[in-house]
Amino acid sequence: MDDFIFEAFPARIVFGAGKIAEVPAELDRLDASSALLITTLSQSFVADEIERSLGTRCAARIDGAVMHVPRENADAAIALGEEKNCDSVISIGGGSAVGLAKAIALSKGLPIVAVPSTFAGSEMTDIWGISEGDGKITGRDAVVVPKTVIYDIGLTRGYPARLAGPSGINAMAHSVEALYAQNCNPVLSMYAEEGIRILADGLPSICGDNPDDDARSNTLKGAFLCGLALAKATMGIHHKLCHVIGGAFGMPHAETHAVILPHATFYNRDAAPDAMYAICRALGSDTAAGGLFDLVERIGAPTSLQDLAFEEKNLDRAADIATESPYYNPHPVDRDSVRKLLEDAFQGRRPE
Ligand code: NAD
Repeated sequence: MDDFIFEAFPARIVFGAGKIAEVPAELDRLDASSALLITTLSQSFVADEIERSLGTRCAARIDGAVMHVPRENADAAIALGEEKNCDSVISIGGGSAVGLAKAIALSKGLPIVAVPSTFAGSEMTDIWGISEGDGKITGRDAVVVPKTVIYDIGLTRGYPARLAGPSGINAMAHSVEALYAQNCNPVLSMYAEEGIRILADGLPSICGDNPDDDARSNTLKGAFLCGLALAKATMGIHHKLCHVIGGAFGMPHAETHAVILPHATFYNRDAAPDAMYAICRALGSDTAAGGLFDLVERIGAPTSLQDLAFEEKNLDRAADIATESPYYNPHPVDRDSVRKLLEDAFQGRRPE
């Protein structure tokens, strides 16, 4: 029997259809009366509805949150919040909107109400990131964990399969790595395995021809559980490679996760047998890596770095950077094995 410590963040989750109507009540619970609304362009129509419901309690609004939180955007958002005396932040959108809200929370301690529209999971974590020049500074701080997360399946109704599929695999990657994390424990394993199972059930439907609200609800629930797993687990070779490929070579975030996940899982197949059993159980597949590859293919997400227009000449450099200061990983991280992993991902070979 193993000893373990599990500590949860005290977030409040409001889940269901039409739940964006609860935003004003959730602000009341936080004793907040002057919110800065942050969104991405694709979700500005949702922000319009929320702004109307808030009336004068919406003190300022930013519509242009972008990926990886550029420093100048964070500084401008912090300054706007100060100028308008904001006492809270509402993010409407995926990791880009939550990321900008977290930058404000980190600097000013303002509480966040997050309304996610993707499956990336940032709304459940204490991880923040700000990009500057060619690099991205990241850290963990409990002050950036949203106080309330409102999961409204309505926001995912217009989410096209070409974005929703990779985003769901991005979520699943958090759970796969949580299952073999250095600090894995029975609670994390439960979130992670169930998250993978529910996503594997919902994703093919929401990426298919006639998605319904049950599938949307399942997928969002799975993404929530995977976000919980990310919040508390250390991440391994998969997240390291995605950070390198996204950060140093500008590849798209969720799509990179979709390509790399089966190969990173294959890399750890012998070193993390319990995690592999859990993934197979959740997917109903014979092998973990093969099952993930088949799922990625089935939902029409990219399966090779070539699909993302990654240049073959950059494979060596990517392997170098990824192995310079590796994260903990159950299978030892060595440059030749990682180069082989990247070659397989570049070619889009099915593992095993
Ligand atoms: P995102 O928020 O940029 O969304 C991706 C794209 O989808 C955008 O163009 C957006 O406008 C569009 N979009 C979002 N929701 C939509 C919807 N419902 N319908 C139609 N289009 C929609 O990106 P993301 O994939 O959600 O998140 C990626 C970012 O979040 C990265 O910067 C990543 O580093 C960060 N991230 C952080 C954490 C964390 O814990 N801090 C976790 C996961 C991701």
